[in-house]
Amino acid sequence: MAIEPFDVVDLIRTKRDKGVLDTAQINWLIDAYTSGYVADEQMSAMTMAIFLNGMQRDEIRDLTLAMIASGETMSFESLSKRTTDKHSTGGVGDKITLPLAPLVASFGVAVPQLSGRGLGHTGGTLDKLESIPGWRASISNEEFYQQLEDVGAVICAAGSGLAPADGKLYSLRDITGTVECIPLIASSIMSKKIAEGTAALVLDVKFGSGAFLQDPARGRELAETMVQLGKDAGVDTVALLTNMNVPLGNAIGNANEVRESVEVLAGGGPADVVELTIALAREMLELAGVHDADVAGALKNGQAMDTWNAMIRAQGGDPSAALPVAKETHVVTATRSGILVEQQALPFGIAAWRLGAGRARKQDPVQHSAGIDLHAKPGDTVTEGQPLFTLSADEPERFARALEALEGAYAIGDEAPELAPLIAGRIS
Ligand code: URA
Repeated sequence: MAIEPFDVVDLIRTKRDKGVLDTAQINWLIDAYTSGYVADEQMSAMTMAIFLNGMQRDEIRDLTLAMIASGETMSFESLSKRTTDKHSTGGVGDKITLPLAPLVASFGVAVPQLSGRGLGHTGGTLDKLESIPGWRASISNEEFYQQLEDVGAVICAAGSGLAPADGKLYSLRDITGTVECIPLIASSIMSKKIAEGTAALVLDVKFGSGAFLQDPARGRELAETMVQLGKDAGVDTVALLTNMNVPLGNAIGNANEVRESVEVLAGGGPADVVELTIALAREMLELAGVHDADVAGALKNGQAMDTWNAMIRAQGGDPSAALPVAKETHVVTATRSGILVEQQALPFGIAAWRLGAGRARKQDPVQHSAGIDLHAKPGDTVTEGQPLFTLSADEPERFARALEALEGAYAIGDEAPELAPLIAGRIS
């Protein structure tokens, strides 16, 4: 039997007692956990020790590199275009990838978006796109590279070969209360993004009620940690710090978020979705060497829409097909006249999830037509009896539990609320 160089219990004790792990110890730990030598219960103790006591920058870098080394890495060097990628830490109504990827690709750069499915109250990009009839999330490696050459934008499922240690660790964190931890979130996201092989990366790091981290200062710390990890790995990385206290846009769900994205690609759509799409597109294009691009113009003149249509068709989807519509709706109206002063992201995310838009277990299906459409946003004047939002679901029994989640989540007052800017900072 091979003699192991470290004892996992010693390493757990080190982190428990606020010590520091060195590169060899972290490499061994991740390798031994991936192979099954270190048990889930031992790794649970380790992640809780990290959650409570944190990690130094060198440890976070070593953890990220060890997770990258646990699987395969991709390379885009043979492509004729420069690659630029985006990652959002996730939020309620966050459909930005949908208009953003074709918009950026319409300027001749490659946007490989390896995306996931939703778990809990944040939606998954693949779930949203699967509401388009015929669209396939899984494509072969050959199709992937060909589509990047031909269309420029690909949004598809990430294979399990990229950073498998993270896949195992993330599932463990999900059931042990250790998700909301900066070293673990940063290494998890960046290991996958670096393994994916992009040359440039723009991060949308969210803070607030609908985000992993509520506090803007902690959001900034997460953004700084990830930008540093990207730079250490030779990836040009920039982060925007954005407010997720209010749902993004007017649609929360799957099919309705696709509908709203298409509105943005047609030159319309809600102001906040357009603002963030344009800001992220400018950052992605700058990093790819495309300076002063007329990004807003590309949304107005059909350039981005053409790339969207080509991207959807390339993966078997019909961009002109009707999107699914729920069998039942329930409209919530204003109980008085005034100004909408509050609309909290998290309860709206939970309500959409309870309507069937999200899943509680990985294997559950989602209902593409379920969700919420907002008819007013904070700062809007409303009159008594006016619709505030519409819940949609196939089973009307779902409305009661969704409405329960929304109790106290919105309010009408007399004075205009102070509206926080959507983009709170930029870290480079
Ligand atoms: N997304 C990830 O991929 N990992 C995290 O830890 C959190 C969000």
